[in-house]
Amino acid sequence: MLEILNDVPLKPLHTFGTDVRAEAFVKVADREDVEALPDLLKERNYLILGGGSNVLFTDNYRGIVVKPVMNGLNTLDESEGHIVLEAGAGLDWDAFVAFCVKNGYGGVENLSLIPGNVGASPIQNIGAYGVEIEKVIEGVRFFNLAERGWNAYAKGQCGFGYRQSVFKKALKNKCVIVSVVFRLTKKKHDFQLGYGDLSKLVKEKGGESLQAVRDAVIEIRQGKLPDPKVKGNAGSFFKNPVISHVQFIELQKIYPDMPFYDLLGEKKIPAAWLIEKCGWKGKTIGNAGVHHKQALVLVNANGMAKGKEIVELAKQIKNSVQSRFQIELDFEVNIV
Ligand SMILES: Cc1cc2nc3c(=O)[nH]c(=O)nc-3n(C[C@H](O)[C@H](O)[C@H](O)COP(=O)(O)OP(=O)(O)OC[C@H]3O[C@@H](n4cnc5c(N)ncnc54)[C@H](O)[C@@H]3O)c2cc1C
Repeated sequence: MLEILNDVPLKPLHTFGTDVRAEAFVKVADREDVEALPDLLKERNYLILGGGSNVLFTDNYRGIVVKPVMNGLNTLDESEGHIVLEAGAGLDWDAFVAFCVKNGYGGVENLSLIPGNVGASPIQNIGAYGVEIEKVIEGVRFFNLAERGWNAYAKGQCGFGYRQSVFKKALKNKCVIVSVVFRLTKKKHDFQLGYGDLSKLVKEKGGESLQAVRDAVIEIRQGKLPDPKVKGNAGSFFKNPVISHVQFIELQKIYPDMPFYDLLGEKKIPAAWLIEKCGWKGKTIGNAGVHHKQALVLVNANGMAKGKEIVELAKQIKNSVQSRFQIELDFEVNIV
C-alpha cells in the first residue's frame, strides 16, 4: 500500500541542497508498489528521484516525487571467472561499489565515490577515470508506466553513449528502473589505469588490486571535487562537447594548447578548459558559484542559492563559451 506524503522538504534529498518542497512524495519498495503507480500518477506531474545527485530543482515541485527504494542484491549466476549480480535501484551506488571491491568483484572500482543510487547508474551511463558503466551492465529491469508493463532490456537495447542511454531519450520519465544486472570479474580483472595520475597513485597504494584502485580514485576525487554535504553541487554541470575535425583545426590555430580527446573523425574538448579560459573558475555570482578547483562543477556557494540562480549562472557560462569558441555546451544535470 503506497503511503503518500504531502508538502515534503526536498533539501535533504538532492545534492544541490536548494530549499524546495514537493507537493507530494511516495516511496516504492516492491512490484506491487510500482504497479500501483500508473493510477496514482495519472494526469499528474511526476518525477522519479534517486539520490538526487544529478538534478537541479528550479522551484517547488508541483506534482509527485517517486522514490524507488528497492535494496535487494542477488547473485544470478556465478562461475570461476565471473559473477552476475542483480542490484536493487534504491541501493546507494558507492556502497554497492564498496561491496564489490571487498568481495573481489571487478569492473566498477573506477566508479568509486560517484554519488547517487544504482537505479540511476544506467540512465546517463555513469563514467569516470576511463570507465563507463555500460562496460559491466548486462541488463536493466524496469516498469513502463505508459504501457503498464514490466520490461528487461539487455545491454544492447539500452542505447548507451557518452552520458546517454535510451532512459534519457525515448524512455525519459516513462519508466521506473527497479534493478540493474552487472557482470563482474572474479579474476583476470581488466584494470583501467590510463587516466591522469591513476596508475602512479595505484602503485603507491600497493599495486594493481581492486582496493588500491578504489582508494586511489577516492583520493583523486576528494582532492578536486566538492563534497555535496559541505557544498551543494551535482558534479559536472556540463557535458564535454564534441566538435568536428574542421572546427578543431581552426580553433587550434588560435589556441594551440587546447586539450582534446580523439574520437572517430571528431574531437571531444574538456568543457572545464573552455570554461576556465572564459575566466569563470572560482567565480561567484550571488549565491551560486563555479568551483575553484574544477570549473565544470557549479556550486550552491553558501547553501542559500536558488535553483534559478544556478541555472542563470550556467546560461551565462554557456553563452560566453559559445561566443568565444563557437562551441555549444549541453547541461549534464537534469533541470527540473
Ligand atoms: C560530487 C558529484 C560527483 C559526481 N561525479 C560523477 C561522475 O564522476 N560521473 C558521472 O557519470 N556522474 C557523476 N555525478 C552525477 C551523478 O552522481 C550521477 O549521474 C548519478 O548516477 C545520479 O544518480 P541519482 O540516484 O542521484 O539520480 P537522480 O539525480 O536522483 O536522478 C537523475 C535522473 O535519473 C532519473 N532516475 C533516477 N532514478 C531512477 C529510476 N530508478 N528509474 C527511472 N528514472 C530514475 C531521474 O528522474 C533523473 O532524471 C556526480 C555528482 C556529484 C554530486
